Amino acid sequence: MTTTQQERVDIFEKTRSFTRAREAEAMGIYPFFIPFDDSEGTVVMYEGREILMIGSNNYLGLTTHPHVREAAMKAVKDYGTSCTGSRFMNGTLALHHELEDRLADFIGKEKVLVFSTGYQTNLGTISAIAGRGDVVITDKEDHASIIDGTILSMAEMKRFRHSDMGDLERVLSRLPADTGKIVIVDGVYSMGGDIAPLPEIVPLCEQYGARLLVDDAHSMGVLAGGRGTAEHFGLTDEVDLITGTFSKSFASIGGFTAGDDDVMHYIKHHARSLIFSASLPASNTAAVLAALDVIENEPDYVQRLWDNAEFMKQGLTELGFDIGPSETPIIPIIVGDDMRTILFWKALFEEGLFTNPVIPPGVPPNKSLLRTSYMATHTREQLERALNILDDVGHRLDII
Ligand code: PMP
Repeated sequence: MTTTQQERVDIFEKTRSFTRAREAEAMGIYPFFIPFDDSEGTVVMYEGREILMIGSNNYLGLTTHPHVREAAMKAVKDYGTSCTGSRFMNGTLALHHELEDRLADFIGKEKVLVFSTGYQTNLGTISAIAGRGDVVITDKEDHASIIDGTILSMAEMKRFRHSDMGDLERVLSRLPADTGKIVIVDGVYSMGGDIAPLPEIVPLCEQYGARLLVDDAHSMGVLAGGRGTAEHFGLTDEVDLITGTFSKSFASIGGFTAGDDDVMHYIKHHARSLIFSASLPASNTAAVLAALDVIENEPDYVQRLWDNAEFMKQGLTELGFDIGPSETPIIPIIVGDDMRTILFWKALFEEGLFTNPVIPPGVPPNKSLLRTSYMATHTREQLERALNILDDVGHRLDII
C-alpha cells in the first residue's frame, strides 16, 4: 500500500478519547488545578472561603516570613524580574554564586550548582552523569523527575522494590563489573513520608561499585536541623551526589546538586537543563538565601515542624486512620479505593480542609491515599480543627 492508500492517523485522537477528567469535572469531583485567590501559608482562600492547608510542601512556612518576603522584594528592586538567559550564557549572577557557596557549607559538600527547578536539577544531573551503556538503578517510588532524567540519559534503567534491600542487591549483583552504575533514591519519599535506609544502601553501593545520588527534595529543611538525609545518618561523605529543590522548605523555586568539585565541574558543563534554560531569577535566589538565614539562626522552626508532625501522627493514629510507613511531616491517609479517596477529598474540601488525593498512576492500584503534610507555622488550634474535620468526615464516609 502507498502512503496515500493507508488510513490516516490523527495524532490528536488521544485528546478526544481522554474523557476521565471531564467526567470528574461534570460530577463536581475534579480535585486538581484548584485556583486559590489568596494564601498566607496555613490558610488559603477559595471562592471567598477560608480553607485550612494541610497539603503543601511549605514545611517551614517560610513563604510568608518577613525576612524572606523582604529579601525577594529587594532583589526585584535591585536586579529586575528576570535573568533572561541561562547560567552558561548571560544568566549567572554573583548572587547565584553566593547561594552555591552558602549551600555547600550548609550541606557539607565541596560544590553546589543551582538550577531553575528541582525537576530540571534531576533531569540535568542524571543525564549529564549517566549515558548509553550505563545503568541507573532506581527505587520504584522515586520521583518522576528521576525517571525522566534517566530516560533522557539513554542509560538503561533497572528498578528495585521500594526500600527493599534484598531486591536492590539482586539488581546490583547481576550487573557486570565493567558497567557504570548509579543508584538513585529519594531521601524522604514524597507520598509515604518514609526515609530511605541509607545505612543499608551505602554499603551495597560500595560493595558493587555503584555511585549513589539522593534526592533530598523533602528532606532539606526537615531532617537533621534542615541539612537533609545524608546528614541525618552521618553519611554526607558517603553519598556521592545530593539533589534538592527550593520549592518546599526553602520557600522559593529552583533546585541544586551538591557533590565533589570535579564531578560538579563536569555536570556544570554537561547538564542540558542548566545550559539551555534560563536561570533562577534574583528574587527567588534571594528568597532561598533568606530562608537559609532563618533555618540556620532560628532552629525553632524545624523543631516546631516536628512537634506538629508528631501531634498529627498521634492524632490520626488514635482516630483509627491507616497512615502507612510515615516517619516525617508527610503523613498519608491510606484509603485504597480511587473513588472513595476522591469522595473523601471532596467532603474534606467542602468542610474547609485541603488535602491531596493521590490515585494511580501516582500510587499502585488499590493503594490510593490522601497526602497530608504539616508546617512549622500551623497552630495547635488549626491542627485540632483538622483532626475534628477528619474525624467527622472519616466516620461519615466509613473510612474509619
Ligand atoms: N524531587 C522530588 C522528590 C519531588 O517531590 C519534587 C517535586 N514534587 C521534585 C524533585 C521537583 O521539584 P520542583 O518542584 O522544584 O521542580
